[in-house]
Amino acid sequence: MEKQEKTTAAYFLRRGMRELSNHRPDQAIASLRQAVDSIPPSCSDELSQALYWLSVALLRLDERPLAIKSLASAQKLRRRGYARRLYLRSVNEYGMPRQADSALDDFYAFTNLQIAYYLARKSKSRFDSFQEKDAVLRLILDAWKQLSASDRFSGLDACEKLDIFRKTKILYPSFGLSSPRSAPRGVIVKASFGLSNPDTSLKRAADRCLCGSGLPYGQCCGRVKHLREL
Ligand SMILES: [Zn+2]
Repeated sequence: MEKQEKTTAAYFLRRGMRELSNHRPDQAIASLRQAVDSIPPSCSDELSQALYWLSVALLRLDERPLAIKSLASAQKLRRRGYARRLYLRSVNEYGMPRQADSALDDFYAFTNLQIAYYLARKSKSRFDSFQEKDAVLRLILDAWKQLSASDRFSGLDACEKLDIFRKTKILYPSFGLSSPRSAPRGVIVKASFGLSNPDTSLKRAADRCLCGSGLPYGQCCGRVKHLREL
């Protein structure tokens, strides 16, 4: 790292940590983001440290999805140490913020995946209106109710469940083609839950990730990103 960059990064890191110890996590976040931005990717130890403290500040503000995004990057850069330990304590088997129980973990994984699929098809990757968002969320919730009532999850691990979640196709009405006033009523939902068993050749969540991180696949390259991370 160039001397100038090093001084700038160290300055923002120190300032961020000072703000944290003075119980000003929002100011700490601003400084720590500047520290992260000023460290070149090649300086992995320094970057990991800044990302770790950024995640601590985000956790203080209860910004869990963003904290986990930051921690996931921190522990990737430095495989042993506090960042990995905090990351593993904070995530569930999907690599998302851990919820109070595993049914909620499943629910969040499903809804985040489905919303991400929906938004990926849109040009700006975001909802155009509250009505659209509301209708899409309702359809996703309906599909979740059907899917969870079918009791197909018992004994499955995260990757097997994700396989079912991904195969669940929801048909959405075409928003935007009609004015809000004539918004479609009686929207169609068609969830194909697949008749066959989940693909058993699929990588199991508990298997080590192929990238060599030493982490389970479901918590590494196969993790489900929270919408706040997108
Ligand atoms: Zn991986």
